[in-house]
Formats: sequence, C-alpha cells, structure tokens
Amino acid sequence: MRCIICGKEKEESLFTDEHIFPDAIGGCLIIENVCKDCNDYLGRKVDCGLTEDFLVKLARYAHKIPNKQREIINPFSNLREESTNRSVDFTIDKKTGEPKAPYVFPGPIQFEEKTGTLSFSLDVKDRNKAKDIVRKYAKRKNLPTPTEEDLQAMLDNATVCSERPLLSGKVKLNPNAVGKGMLKIVYEMAYYWLRDCYLSDPVAEEFRRYLLNEDVNEPQIRGSLCVGLDIFKKLPQNVCKDSSHEAFLMRAGNRLYAMTRVFDCYEMRACISEDATKYELADDDMPCIILDAVGRVKQEGRRNDFWFG
Ligand SMILES: [Zn+2]
Repeated sequence: MRCIICGKEKEESLFTDEHIFPDAIGGCLIIENVCKDCNDYLGRKVDCGLTEDFLVKLARYAHKIPNKQREIINPFSNLREESTNRSVDFTIDKKTGEPKAPYVFPGPIQFEEKTGTLSFSLDVKDRNKAKDIVRKYAKRKNLPTPTEEDLQAMLDNATVCSERPLLSGKVKLNPNAVGKGMLKIVYEMAYYWLRDCYLSDPVAEEFRRYLLNEDVNEPQIRGSLCVGLDIFKKLPQNVCKDSSHEAFLMRAGNRLYAMTRVFDCYEMRACISEDATKYELADDDMPCIILDAVGRVKQEGRRNDFWFG
C-alpha cells in the first residue's frame, strides 16, 4: 500500500485511519491511505494549526465538540479583570461545557500605617484562607501577631460583593498555521475524489512538499484563505450550518479548484490541478460533501444538487 503523503510503499499494518477534517473538529470522513508516521506528523504539525486556532476553539466550545479524552475544551485562558488587572481563572465543566463561576486570584495587601488598617481582596471561595494571609503578612512585616478574636472580627466585618467583572485576554492568530491545516484538507479531499490518478499531478506534488516540510510556509499553490464566510454563505442555511464543514470541486478555465470551509470560521479556495481535462469531470457533476460536526454525519452528492436543488 502506498502512502499519499510521503509516497512510500509500506505494509498495510503500518497504516491507520486518517480524518480528512480533523477528529477534534468533529470530522467523520476517513481515508485509509496515510501511513501511521505521516498521520502522527500531520496531527502534531499540521492539523493542530487549525484545531488550536482561537476562532476554531471557540466554535468547538460553542458546539460542544469533545476532544479525544471526551472533554469539552476551554478556549479562554489568561484572562484579567479589566478595572483592577487581577488575574481571573475561567473554568468550565469538562463534561457539559457549562462555565463555572470565575475565580479571582487574591489581590495585593495594602497597609495603612496611620490607622493600622490592613485591606485586601479575595475570591469568596478563599474565605478560609483570610486569617492565614493576615498572620503571614504580620510576621513578614514584624507587626504584632493578631489575636484570634481580631481575625474573627475581621472576617465578620468583611464586605462580600458580587461582581460582574469585565474580562479581557489576548488572542494570537496565525494565518500560516491555519492555512496549512486547511490545505491539508484540500489535498486529501482532492485525493478522495480523484483517487490515485491525482497523486502524479504536479500540483499534488507541491502539496506533499509543503505539507511534509515544516520550513515551507509559502507553497507554490494558488489559494486564498478567508476568515469568515464568503463563498459558502450562499449555500442554503438548512444545508450549511455554523456547525458544519464543507468541500466541493469547481472548474475555472483549465484549472480545477477545491473549496473547503471549517465551521463559520475559515474557508479556503485552492487550485488542485492546472489541467482539469485530465479528470473528466463535467461542470454539472462536481462532487460536494457536507459534514455535520455535532452529529458526525456526512452528506455527499453533486455540488449543483446542494446549491440549486
Ligand atoms: Zn507516509
């Protein structure tokens, strides 16, 4: 059996199921012609650029698509409360994805010497740590050790307020990494539809060179990545949902293009062959596939049936 990524002939036992659209985003379309080594490499170096992208993680979270460990991932990390700049931990229930009350890390202690007043803020969940915090502070600053009565009085007089903090965080987007993940889908969809005769296409060769080489960031492939939806928004809404992925082929002049989209996050239009005539595909017979990422079901047919049927 020959691997469609590294091109090597290997024993069948050295192959494993490859998800064209990654499993982490609810992909349920599988091919068997990728060797274990390449499958592993693609997962670590290519797919993750797409699945770990912030917009994609938001969609995975919004549609409650679990990872391999059957857990819902939390797209929010390193948040801060805007007015005080305190760190806030936002956690979710890994089974249901429901957010838990945010946890606010302890704020700095302020000591006013004139009045001898100590003030600090804590998350209400840390209430039982308050006495210890004061004892340690007093020791560090060589202040008189507070009595148990003082400490209890402090707790009894503490103000508890319920806040609705405005949280902010930083997001990094890496279009190169997203683009690589999208182009892997394009290449494997091209193989899925055109089968073995696609492997000798010069554009297919360029795809493999790009996918297998970590240093190639600008492939010689005609393609464009779009954030949000441009082409696919024209599909009827009952077919094309925010929680689905799609791909179809189309011809423009002598070129054959594959269009793919992942959720309502990204779409990629890429040329998969400079010589469309090789593949004997009529314009009204272009294949199309729609994957429901939540139900993990696929619908296959001709593009025209989905778009105009
Ligand atoms: Zn391989």
